[in-house]
Amino acid sequence: MMNSITASTPLNTHKFVFSLALLLMSCSSPVQQDIQDRDSKAKKVLLISFDGFRADYLSAERTPYLHALAQKGAKSEGLIPVFPSKTFPNHYAIAVGLHPENNGLIGNSIYDSTLAQMYRIGDREQVERADWYEGEPIWNTAEKQGVRAGTMFWVGSEAPVQGMRPTHWKRYDGSVPDSARIDTVIQWLSMGTDLEGDLATLYFSFLDSQGHRYGTDAPETDAALLRVDGLMKYLMEELESAGLANQTNVILVSDHGMQNISRDRVITLDSYMDLEKVLMIGGSPVATMNIEPVYRAEVYHTLKNAQEEGAPFQVFLKEELPKRFHNSKHPRTPDLTIIADLGYSLTTTQQLSSNPNYPSGGNHGYDPQHTEMHAVFVGIGPDFAPNSRLEAFESIHVYSLLAYLLGLNPAPNDGDFTTFEGILLQ
Ligand code: AMP
Ligand code: ZN
Ligand code: ZN
Repeated sequence: MMNSITASTPLNTHKFVFSLALLLMSCSSPVQQDIQDRDSKAKKVLLISFDGFRADYLSAERTPYLHALAQKGAKSEGLIPVFPSKTFPNHYAIAVGLHPENNGLIGNSIYDSTLAQMYRIGDREQVERADWYEGEPIWNTAEKQGVRAGTMFWVGSEAPVQGMRPTHWKRYDGSVPDSARIDTVIQWLSMGTDLEGDLATLYFSFLDSQGHRYGTDAPETDAALLRVDGLMKYLMEELESAGLANQTNVILVSDHGMQNISRDRVITLDSYMDLEKVLMIGGSPVATMNIEPVYRAEVYHTLKNAQEEGAPFQVFLKEELPKRFHNSKHPRTPDLTIIADLGYSLTTTQQLSSNPNYPSGGNHGYDPQHTEMHAVFVGIGPDFAPNSRLEAFESIHVYSLLAYLLGLNPAPNDGDFTTFEGILLQ
């Protein structure tokens, strides 16, 4: 197991009470009964993601408020992303608690041969199409059990997954000001009507953007981290003044980390293969492609030979992808995957010559095993043990924590709730 627990608050009594509650809930079918069971410990959950928040960005120097806040609650050494360590597969895996091969959202760019369709993150029609998303997002788990949810952006929340949507949701719009996002979710959580939400999500992309543009250590990235810090302060103050602080567990996560890249670490793919022979799906640092059977062996062997002679990448046929990626069993898994070594970029001779400043700054997508790809995890609120710590754990477990904190019966998932035993109060 990757996720061993360092803190050790025994939770056995708590687990027993929780199991009993679940048993009682499953015996009483009316939703009303479920709600009554919940009300005895009614808690709210606010899940917030700052895209590209690398685990080690959290420090007294770069995020002083958050650092002090995390001392009062739970913090992990890192949240291990799913492969590829890109935005869409990771946000969705957090929401459904399933590995990519079990939830269908296997990359930022995907080809589905049954739909005969490409999925790209900028393609609104596809992003809002339910066919791409499998499993049960936490907002559906909530709504099905009579708990209202609101998403101020989250991957998957704009599509009618399982034919439903959260009570409150917003189509992604990166131009909505930071404070307006926070004000909106505070309002959802404190409406005082039967539309009031108990689960809300928040999402911000600016830290990822600065990490891409300037790299992990630049003053601009420091400034973005201070902006994160200020927003967390604002959020906690707003929760306090809305009277929500004592009943809300705030979970701060991210989707992946960030790695500096440079022009002296590039792999020009056309030096190794004929790009005309493949259907290129995903780009850098993980190139995914489908290949006509007639060309497959040739393309693969040329790349494999190059790898064995020291080229800074690894190449895998679909069935060879490491099992720990949990990304090879879905019909959408591409025929071939090339993963650049950490810090390298996959490009073409043409792209290099037409972009004299490419590549620079930072990128992500690499093997999740690299600590540079690890994201942040902090839990603050009435159910988290003060000053509790966890080693790095995989992000697919978060769904089970959310369900637990909301008193919900989780849908089948790949997570293990015992991951969190050491950081929860009894
Ligand atoms: P990447 O760094 O390529 O993995 O993706 C990061 C980008 O995803 C961010 O800059 C956001 O603008 C974008 N993004 C995040 N959530 C959504 C969404 N729900 N719909 C469309 N784009 C999104
Ligand atoms: Zn991201
Ligand atoms: Zn990014």
